[in-house]
Amino acid sequence: MNNHIKLFIPGPVEVSEKTFKAFCSPMIGHRSESFKELYRSIHPRLQQLFGTRQPVFLSTSSAWGVMEGAVRNLVRGRVLNCMCGAFSDKWNDVSLRLGKNTCRLQVEWGEPIRPEQLDEKLASGQFDAVTIIHNETSTGVLNPLSDLCAVAKKYPETLLIVDTVSSFSVLPINMDELGIDVLLTGSQKALALPPGLALFSVSERAFQRALEIPDRGYYFDFLEFKKNQEADMTPSTPSISHIYALRSKLDDIFAEGVENRYARHATLNTMVHDWVRRHGFEFFAPEGYRSLSLTCVKNNRGIDTVKLNKLLKENHHMIIDGGYGKIKGTTFRISNMGDETPESITALLNALDDCLARL
Ligand SMILES: *Cc1c(COP(=O)(O)O)cnc(C)c1O
Repeated sequence: MNNHIKLFIPGPVEVSEKTFKAFCSPMIGHRSESFKELYRSIHPRLQQLFGTRQPVFLSTSSAWGVMEGAVRNLVRGRVLNCMCGAFSDKWNDVSLRLGKNTCRLQVEWGEPIRPEQLDEKLASGQFDAVTIIHNETSTGVLNPLSDLCAVAKKYPETLLIVDTVSSFSVLPINMDELGIDVLLTGSQKALALPPGLALFSVSERAFQRALEIPDRGYYFDFLEFKKNQEADMTPSTPSISHIYALRSKLDDIFAEGVENRYARHATLNTMVHDWVRRHGFEFFAPEGYRSLSLTCVKNNRGIDTVKLNKLLKENHHMIIDGGYGKIKGTTFRISNMGDETPESITALLNALDDCLARL
């Protein structure tokens, strides 16, 4: 672990020694009593974090598996994709590749999805489901989730699929209260686990919908997950290592206190924002819609971000992200997810100061 390059990119993020130790626990059979105990031991805490009384499932895949699976399980005919950045745009492409009839609510990268825009689209036709990304990681935009959910509630035939891959455990998200039908997240962002596990929960009416859909496939069949979870198991052999690591992470989260965790992320995010302002940079996302997990900085000073990152890596053994897709170079991103602390973010910002001075 010593001398590795510490990741301040928005996923994967740094994984702690404690988590790695848990990840390396000895194997157990996935149909054994020990496995069932393991799943049982984490399930109530997962429900609490999801804000749901519904079952929480563990998928051995990255988040995209469940993002694709949600469309497959819930959409017969039309799906509306809310698109405001690389990940949400791709969800439309994935829906098309599944042969679904898709409709696009596209806004400029850097802009949030506004509730009135969603209302207008949903009113324009019948949709089986709508896909929303809470925190669009590519642009650093935090969409106004509770307002969007309130709009979606007006259309009971349209099920609500929400990706919280980079916001889960950073701020409170209450699935049942918000009326979300599929809430999904991944392991390598704010949970600071190695990549390869996705977590999700499904509402009762989404299970009812899945029953009506014949070609759900097998690996991501929500009804298979439901049946197996009732016996404290997963449909196929899961990454047991990830589940051990997840248990260790849940111990950490509840030892810190969930509210304290949210407050810590807000504090760290503010520290990065102060640094951005201090150096005369601007934000890519408008005020009021900025991510609490990461900061997408507008490179209005026109610095050489490739060189900045090279200096950071060589001199300080850290890296940030040089911007995603079409906004590479014109933006850069700094993550404050996972186990970071005021001390570690201060160390990063000091290192960035040093590198900026050498550009
Ligand atoms: C990282 C990310 C994904 C994709 O996760 P994978 O682990 O690559 O499948 C999806 N949505 C958001 C918002 C993300 O940040």
